[in-house]
Amino acid sequence: MGYNVGLLGLGTVGTGTAKIIMDSVGRHPLLEEISIVRVGVRTLDKARAVEFETGVVTDDLASIVTDPNIDIIVELIGGVKPALNYILTAIEHGKHVVTANKAVISRHGDEIFTAANAKGVYVLLEAAVAGGIPVLTPLKQALGVNRINRVTGIINGTTNYILTRMKNEGVDFDEVLADAQRLGYAEADPTADVDGLDAADKIAILASLAFGGRIKLDDVYCEGIRKISAADIAYAEKLGFTIKLLAIAQGHRPENGAMPTEIELKVHPTLLPKHHPLATVDGVNNAVLVEADPLGEVMFYGPGAGEGATASAVVSDIVSIVAALEGGSQASNASGNPLLRCSHEHYTPVAPMDASVSRFYARILTQDRPSVIGHIGLAFGDHGVSLESVVQIDVHDRGAEIVVITHKVNEGKFQAALTALQALEEVVSVPSVLRVW
Ligand code: NAP
Repeated sequence: MGYNVGLLGLGTVGTGTAKIIMDSVGRHPLLEEISIVRVGVRTLDKARAVEFETGVVTDDLASIVTDPNIDIIVELIGGVKPALNYILTAIEHGKHVVTANKAVISRHGDEIFTAANAKGVYVLLEAAVAGGIPVLTPLKQALGVNRINRVTGIINGTTNYILTRMKNEGVDFDEVLADAQRLGYAEADPTADVDGLDAADKIAILASLAFGGRIKLDDVYCEGIRKISAADIAYAEKLGFTIKLLAIAQGHRPENGAMPTEIELKVHPTLLPKHHPLATVDGVNNAVLVEADPLGEVMFYGPGAGEGATASAVVSDIVSIVAALEGGSQASNASGNPLLRCSHEHYTPVAPMDASVSRFYARILTQDRPSVIGHIGLAFGDHGVSLESVVQIDVHDRGAEIVVITHKVNEGKFQAALTALQALEEVVSVPSVLRVW
């Protein structure tokens, strides 16, 4: 039996997707049953790297998502609107959906999955997180019998590229960003990447699979990398750390191992000890570390973006749907494949950031006075923050530069100590505060 695909978008990922489906030799045999029968684009007269028969490519995407001959819609136009409308219309018309669109899923996953469950269709999105690296499917399937305790990811290639170059070349953020934009590694408007918003979309999706509940995107704490300086990277290196933008979803389970009633969900730059498995993930690569019981630690690593890598994830989702349909599974039937469908409809509450616990790094500029380290220690101690190390890194004409690393402490207590510290007469400024793994 053949399956007809309607492809929305023929850009980077759409082109890669078409290439795999149209060149199926030596790949999964089910690919031979899949045909791209319609393709939707915005501009009809653009040169394309793949050719289709006359009439297949159209700018009328609404006619594709309602086409009775199409079984699976593959949404690769990106953005929230009109992608959301096309996805919902496709579902309403009984079509299965594959998408690579983290923005639409993290914001409207609730509507999309509720509609899909009601209609008995699958919505798969492997490519939406970490591009080509299979991580959502393993969380749903091979890891599904484990209790997941924490998922930690380097899931934004642009920021990892920028931080890697800052580390290797000793240059500041603005300089690397400008160069990354010139080379096409960063968008003209880099906000979604450098402010951590893209990573927040993705960790919300990972958390919903790891902890079995929907997530409100606004609940994800989000801090980007704009404030990281070459000085911080150099000090971190001296102290045995490397700085990475981490996305973290952590659940504290009750004793009986039930799903956590509250989770921590955050994106922020982090000083990682150099021996940590994520510390060596450099450049545009992505990695996701899953801590699972009883499996232990398992890490997924590879290309988080790019035409072929992302298309690999998209087409594997199409094949999974075809395999389920070949077996007679519709999503909502008793026989529907429970390893593919979304089975939760409640929300998992996210703990306030004030309650989370971490070690901290603070770089403090002070006047060069003999009493200053003692006063800093007292300001922290008075608020219940104990210090793991205090290093006077540099003395220059503006005074002294002191770097402290705290023991693990509640975020609220640390922030109170920081306010007290900033009020000290000898403290000129606190240019950076970062969390330490
Ligand atoms: P892209 O290269 O910009 O391609 C977008 C395609 O969609 C183009 O063919 C464009 O048509 C079409 N399109 C956009 N808006 C449209 C509209 N309103 N109506 C009709 N057609 C429209 O994007 P991409 O990089 O392939 O990304 C696609 C999706 O994959 C996004 O959700 C993205 O986040 C996700 N993703 C991408 C990567 C990656 O490496 N690129 C990795 C992971 C996930 P024209 O060709 O006519 O302009």
